[in-house]
Amino acid sequence: MCSPWDVRTICTVWTPRSKVLKSAVITHNRLVAGSNPAGPTYYLMKPSGFVEISLILLITLGCMPAPTEATPRPSPAPINFTNTTVSLTFDDGAADNYAVRPILSERGLHATFYIVSGFTGTEGYMTAGQLRDLFEDGNEIGGHTLNHTKLTEVRGADLEREICQDRQNLLDHGFEVTSFAYPFGHYDEVSKQVVKDCGYANARAVTGGPDAIPPEDPFALQAMPYIVQDTTINKLMRYVTGAEVEGGGWVILVFHRVCTGYNEYAIDLETFTNLADWLAYQRDLNGLVIKTVGEVIGR
Ligand SMILES: [Zn+2]
Repeated sequence: MCSPWDVRTICTVWTPRSKVLKSAVITHNRLVAGSNPAGPTYYLMKPSGFVEISLILLITLGCMPAPTEATPRPSPAPINFTNTTVSLTFDDGAADNYAVRPILSERGLHATFYIVSGFTGTEGYMTAGQLRDLFEDGNEIGGHTLNHTKLTEVRGADLEREICQDRQNLLDHGFEVTSFAYPFGHYDEVSKQVVKDCGYANARAVTGGPDAIPPEDPFALQAMPYIVQDTTINKLMRYVTGAEVEGGGWVILVFHRVCTGYNEYAIDLETFTNLADWLAYQRDLNGLVIKTVGEVIGR
């Protein structure tokens, strides 16, 4: 009898710096392959056993299968994350963001969703019930103003209303709201002060990352560049591994839409799923920490 694991290839993933990121043993499960017209199933070998992953993920990770008849090379050490934390953040509360809910929960990942409360429940945006689902899964709900207003262009009562009323709306929904993101990343000392006065514990900008833990200024958190349609998974992984190589830090990833073909500020669901797989893998095996923004700041 053949064991289910008897056809085996070795897949090694290389970083752009030619350091080995990880190696994986890919197995064609002949039992499944024999009965599944969609093709073989691929597995990643982990200490806890084999985990099924998609062929697309393998290809995306840059795997180059090689036959095992050749003498296997010794497995190089995987990258060991000693000082890197990743936060997944979603801006605006678009309706398509709800699609990531099962992807996060199935992998035990939690993200921060910055909500424009004036848009909640309107066409194209998540409903209060959907936000509650995300919150109850352990995700964080943060504020992003009442109407997605550029805060450097409003003053006085209008500025306070945009920031404070938005937070109050989210509190009224029953969420714990301590994190804020500046629309378009625009802020100045006046708007920063109002964010503090309205009861927030931190505020995220849009560039300059990775930040440090603790950050130099919790009210100007530095994020990685916007994730746009042509941001590849390799680039996303490099943001994370690059931070570790440089001594570690806080890698805050900024997503907007989750869809294909909408606009440049979008990631498709498949790429996000592959990223979530990779992050969960690095967390489980190599010490990567993934937290919401509020968890990092210590809300
Ligand atoms: Zn926004």
